[in-house]
Amino acid sequence: MDFRLTDEQAALRESVREFAREVIAPVIAEHYEQHTFPYEVIRQMGKMGLFGLPFAEEHGGMGGDYFALCLALEELARVDSSVAITLEAAVSLGAMPIYRFGTEEQKATWLPRLLSGEALAGFGLTEPGTGSDAAGTQTRAVLDGDEWVINGSKAFITNSGTDITAMVTVTAVTGTNPDGSKELSTIIVPTGTPGFTVAPGYSKVGWTASDTHELTFDDCRVPAANLLGARGRGFAQFLRILDEGRIAIAALAVGLAQGCVDESIKYAKERHAFGRAIGTNQAIQFKIADMELKAHTARLAYYDAAARMLAGEQFKRQAAIAKLHASTIAVDNAREATQIHGGYGFMNEYPVARFWRDSKILEIGEGTSEVQRMIIARDLGL
Ligand SMILES: Cc1cc2nc3c(=O)[nH]c(=O)nc-3n(C[C@H](O)[C@H](O)[C@H](O)COP(=O)(O)OP(=O)(O)OC[C@H]3O[C@@H](n4cnc5c(N)ncnc54)[C@H](O)[C@@H]3O)c2cc1C
Repeated sequence: MDFRLTDEQAALRESVREFAREVIAPVIAEHYEQHTFPYEVIRQMGKMGLFGLPFAEEHGGMGGDYFALCLALEELARVDSSVAITLEAAVSLGAMPIYRFGTEEQKATWLPRLLSGEALAGFGLTEPGTGSDAAGTQTRAVLDGDEWVINGSKAFITNSGTDITAMVTVTAVTGTNPDGSKELSTIIVPTGTPGFTVAPGYSKVGWTASDTHELTFDDCRVPAANLLGARGRGFAQFLRILDEGRIAIAALAVGLAQGCVDESIKYAKERHAFGRAIGTNQAIQFKIADMELKAHTARLAYYDAAARMLAGEQFKRQAAIAKLHASTIAVDNAREATQIHGGYGFMNEYPVARFWRDSKILEIGEGTSEVQRMIIARDLGL
């Protein structure tokens, strides 16, 4: 077992770290405050090849793997989570379903633009009435001649309403299985299709420089050929996508947790109270030591899950463990980093205030902490 990075992985991590510090850090607070999408940052990330990291070169990718994506996400989130979640959702939720399940024609149509970062795609699973219980999907798609007619709505869909959003994949009920359960399928809906409406962006607590919308489908017609993979495979498809996505969200959470350590060390050395730097107090040192301990162990958990996935082994339980642990410690670290910053930690101009606001969603998105526990317990045979 060797968790040391190869030279290539270390170089990727270094270049993303430098990009995050030099390009993202100076501009992101303004975007965060104004709730604007950082198009120029995203464009530059596209040029760096980040959107193509885990995809084969024949489809316009960089020929890397999912672990490379995770390393990039960790370094981005160490500085800012809005940008990191934009990349995570674009790659693991947006492009990956097309890459994994699409026909050659669908891949040729969508992947070049998605993998270069010129276009973004959303993943429409959650609905206003159902999230964790995805089998409760209400959105319906009926085949009418050579078209699907879609009716329903989706909630909280990332990257679904930017100026460069090209399409969303939508999970819909397309019939009834022999056992009486819902037949779920995934359908590609291009942006601008009549009957597909994108609501104004949500007013969010965190990730305010990322793009999230409610979507409605009102007799929305798309060609029958927009079915992704086989009819009735929707359930299996999103389970696979979410299993992988948990490793990516864990990496993002580790990045946020590590960013809290970075900022706390800096502040603890600068800030003086009672005639000395606050970092000379063992109470502060122990807080920072515990934060580092948490970031480090959560990193090992996602490295392990990614290694199993790439080896073609079962990784469901390990991905759930990594996501559950990393999101929990990200919230812990954000709380402690804010505490170390005192009143300034409550001011939006300090990165830790952003980390604090961005941390909570990590325990909710792509499967809540309760759902992760359900997955782990089930995998243990309970
Ligand atoms: C900013 C943001 C971006 C998002 N992006 C996307 C996206 O791109 N695509 C997408 O499809 N979705 C997206 N989501 C949705 C997200 O994945 C869901 O919010 C999440 O899965 C939880 O679903 P829910 O909100 O419906 O909560 P619910 O499922 O209603 O759960 C409410 C509470 O009940 C708990 N609960 C539910 N069932 C059980 C049980 N059996 N046992 C114990 N506790 C239970 C949950 O853990 C939670 O605490 C996003 C959400 C946000 C906020």
